[in-house]
Amino acid sequence: MLKKGAKKMSYYHYGTMVTNAAGHLAIGGVDTLDLAKEYGTPLFVYDTALIKQRIQAFKEVFEAAHVAYKITYASKAFAAVAMYQLIAKAGIGCDIVSGGELYTAQQAGFPMAEVTFHGNNKTAAEIEQAIAAGVGTIVVDNFSEIELLDDLLAKANKTAAILLRISPGISAHTHEYIMTGQEDSKFGFDLKSGQATQAFLEVEKRDRLHLLGIHCHIGSQIFETNGFEMAAEALVQLLAQWHQKTGFDAQVMNLGGGFGVRYTADDQPLAPQDYVKDIVADVQGKMAEQGLKMPAIWIEPGRSMVAEAGTTLYTIGTRKDLPGIRNYLAVDGGMGDNIRPALYQAKYDTFLAGQPEAEPTQKVTVVGKYCESGDILAYDQQLPATQPGDILAMPTTGAYGYAMASNYNRNPRPAVVFVENGHAALVVKRESYANLVQLDQTLPENF
Ligand SMILES: *Cc1c(COP(=O)(O)O)cnc(C)c1O
Repeated sequence: MLKKGAKKMSYYHYGTMVTNAAGHLAIGGVDTLDLAKEYGTPLFVYDTALIKQRIQAFKEVFEAAHVAYKITYASKAFAAVAMYQLIAKAGIGCDIVSGGELYTAQQAGFPMAEVTFHGNNKTAAEIEQAIAAGVGTIVVDNFSEIELLDDLLAKANKTAAILLRISPGISAHTHEYIMTGQEDSKFGFDLKSGQATQAFLEVEKRDRLHLLGIHCHIGSQIFETNGFEMAAEALVQLLAQWHQKTGFDAQVMNLGGGFGVRYTADDQPLAPQDYVKDIVADVQGKMAEQGLKMPAIWIEPGRSMVAEAGTTLYTIGTRKDLPGIRNYLAVDGGMGDNIRPALYQAKYDTFLAGQPEAEPTQKVTVVGKYCESGDILAYDQQLPATQPGDILAMPTTGAYGYAMASNYNRNPRPAVVFVENGHAALVVKRESYANLVQLDQTLPENF
């Protein structure tokens, strides 16, 4: 029971979220109803102060541990020119996984030396683009790529700093589509079969490939540190073998990203920097045990950098009540701006932006407007009475939301705004219908 006069906290406050004097949800000091009016819905709203705070917290962990480090934002979580600029201004690097991400980072003026290039099937054109751009580090994923990269470097008469991606045979407890470090994976050199060491010896033979060290990324939305520690153990053992073989000392151990975030009350992750704190201490101990030089620790947070900073605003439309079964409440977006519920059975909370603290009076299932029965954004939401036109807020949509958006049903993709200190900035425009047909060609007469 709530005490009389006590304010019920009906929503979880991420970052700068507050209920403002008007009783509305405000983010970054900006009323979200004003944002919806000005920019339309669906709308992605990013709390940039929270992103900066995350970066600072990661940095502080490394500084406190006196460990050399590099933080690269895994930009696949949310990539846009303004986002690369925000990251560059914060003084950290970024990961890219395609020529398109590289191009966007270049358009943003991102310092190329701070870019790390990932991917299990980088095309020759993408590798050439990266070499020409002066991308800082290339993470080599497989044997074909060792040869391809070496050939393309020879053609350009250049060298490259590389890491070898290792698949350490660790299964992180997460959804199987976002689990990447297990043995049966399309990513990286397998450790158990000896492929990792074979790759190391291949690379050591080639003068153009300057091996900085090793990389692994065991998955995403991970809640426990023991998966990271098992991976670190495997990498340290491997480095010890390599050291014994050739005297190799790694300058870099890149432990990837994957730190879990809070989507709903069921999720109780550590603070992202606390995963890193544990991992760093663990690696320090293990390297010392082996008598090896401590390498720089690199991390690649994606989700933990932006998920909780992002909130989607939708406008409520129609409803369909099925007594005894379910009440469907439809919004003006759906799987086109957030595929995660359909793809991973991801769970979300929602609340009304106009009265976030209101007592819930009904249970509804929030669905989108796309022509798929699976277009369900959030089951069993406790909401107060709603009217068509009300603005529904869905928090923690900042990672793999806009990044995975599509034009399914020929719905234009939403706009994206950054908010901070009472200011809002449109950083990605809403797509227009004209945008939707700009690549289409008319039918030739002979068809
Ligand atoms: C996706 C990815 C990341 C980021 O993962 P998050 O779960 O978003 O933190 C980091 N490194 C690599 C290699 C990845 O593929």
